[in-house]
Amino acid sequence: MSAGIYHEMIIDYSRNPLNFGKIEDHDVTFHDSNPLCGDSIDIDMKIKDDMIHEIKFHGKGCAICMACSSVLTEMAKGKSLGDARKLGKDDVLSELGLEHLQAVRIKCALLSLKVLKLALYTYLAGSPESGADGLKDEAANLY
Ligand SMILES: [Zn+2]
Repeated sequence: MSAGIYHEMIIDYSRNPLNFGKIEDHDVTFHDSNPLCGDSIDIDMKIKDDMIHEIKFHGKGCAICMACSSVLTEMAKGKSLGDARKLGKDDVLSELGLEHLQAVRIKCALLSLKVLKLALYTYLAGSPESGADGLKDEAANLY
């Protein structure tokens, strides 16, 4: 796809984000922010049978942050926890043609992935056999 189409997708998602809102009876929620830009988001999830049954995000962010949060939550929805934790930065960036994003904007693009990983960590931390500790390291090393 051309860069123009990706640009339009980002603008469109930022105006009409997917999976935007709160889940009041969530099983897990996590918040983080990117003070440099002012992005601040929460991800809420309902988890059933080790699967992400429902996922929503809320908060505020720049166009890149809102677009990447939309794409990421859409990819994570319906995935098993095992598959969701394998989602990586390339999955998010390539979906929106952002592979060559400048370093200062990478935090905008990957904030939601960091929040997702830490939400999964928070959920799984209660069961040591899940090997959830790796998620914390992954989140810390994202950018
Ligand atoms: Zn931003």
